[in-house]
Amino acid sequence: MAEGTTKSTCQDCGSEFQIVTQEKIFYKKKNLPEPKSCPDCRRKARLSLRNERKLYHRTCDKCQKKIISTYRPDSEYTVYCQDCFWKYIG
Ligand SMILES: [Zn+2]
Ligand SMILES: [Zn+2]
Repeated sequence: MAEGTTKSTCQDCGSEFQIVTQEKIFYKKKNLPEPKSCPDCRRKARLSLRNERKLYHRTCDKCQKKIISTYRPDSEYTVYCQDCFWKYIG
């Protein structure tokens, strides 16, 4: 089996990245599509995906302002917006 790399262009940032032949074989074996993004963008995509999953739209329990919270809307936690939070603890 020949060792080598294939050049590919990242669909997200347009920079060139290399796919190692072994990697290509791995994707083929697993029936997975070859990556279309450079390792950097793939890492970023993974991170943003993880962040999104953790954030929920909620309303401040005091002033009803729309906020983003890490607590689920159905959780028992009282959630305040930044303003109310600082007022509350100050
Ligand atoms: Zn990229
Ligand atoms: Zn508030």
